[in-house]
Amino acid sequence: MTAAPSHPIGAHIPASGGLARTGLPYLAKIGATAAQVFVSNPRGWALSSGNPAEDEAFRAHCETAGIPVFVHASLLVNLGSPTALTVERSAATLLHAAERAQRIGASAVVFHSGSAVAGTRRDAAMAQLREVLLPILDSLDKLGDEAPSLLVEPTAGGGFSLAAKVGDLGPFFEAVDHHPRLGVCLDTCHAWAAGHDLTAPGGTKEMLDDLAGAVGTGRLRLIHANDSKDPCGSLRDRHENVGAGQIGLEPFGDLFTHPEVRGVPLIVETPSHTEGAGHIADITSLRGLLAQLG
Ligand SMILES: [Zn+2]
Repeated sequence: MTAAPSHPIGAHIPASGGLARTGLPYLAKIGATAAQVFVSNPRGWALSSGNPAEDEAFRAHCETAGIPVFVHASLLVNLGSPTALTVERSAATLLHAAERAQRIGASAVVFHSGSAVAGTRRDAAMAQLREVLLPILDSLDKLGDEAPSLLVEPTAGGGFSLAAKVGDLGPFFEAVDHHPRLGVCLDTCHAWAAGHDLTAPGGTKEMLDDLAGAVGTGRLRLIHANDSKDPCGSLRDRHENVGAGQIGLEPFGDLFTHPEVRGVPLIVETPSHTEGAGHIADITSLRGLLAQLG
């Protein structure tokens, strides 16, 4: 037995067929020590009530194994949308995800920062963000001490994103008075697409310094460790296996050397390939980088 890794490392895992029945064997197969799941259709608005037995079996296993769990909210969530119905559904989806997160023992719900859709309504979108997100964050307190946090994930940019570069998180956090239940999920592919050159000397450190400068220290709670098929600044969000894309392996090693990243779990959202071989390789690569640092 080696010592427990200082960073839980895992993947977004499949759950169709049952969170425990499908998810747990997959976690074991890829050797994950962290997990992320969807709790409803990621490309729809229908909210699944879940299967209580599956939820409990999943929670109990992950708790016993010390596996931190994260829920990723529907990809349709957009708190900056100009369409009232979309905003309403987004809020309901986040609340639902938080309730399911608590049932499955997840510590947080990741959601995309969203977009204003039109450049002319950015201020309105930020005002709307406050109006909608602040009550949701407050309501999480009612779920008790173990209530999940919400983690905003900056997007790859484009579509008048409310947060793409990490500096954009400053106004995002200000809009909700730096609410203690809001954290950050950093996706390396998105950051790269938004224009952070992680391959430049000191580029990864600079991005993480900027992140801490924008929202304060200790807000980074999760990293989506994804490589990218596209060049830096492309605004394109096409994930690639770790080290196999345009970011390459080195910046992922640089992540581990930054104080903001200490102990933060990493999740890959990369092509899984047959029998999870892609995820196994990615997790192995990340652990290798970590081991090199001693
Ligand atoms: Zn992501």
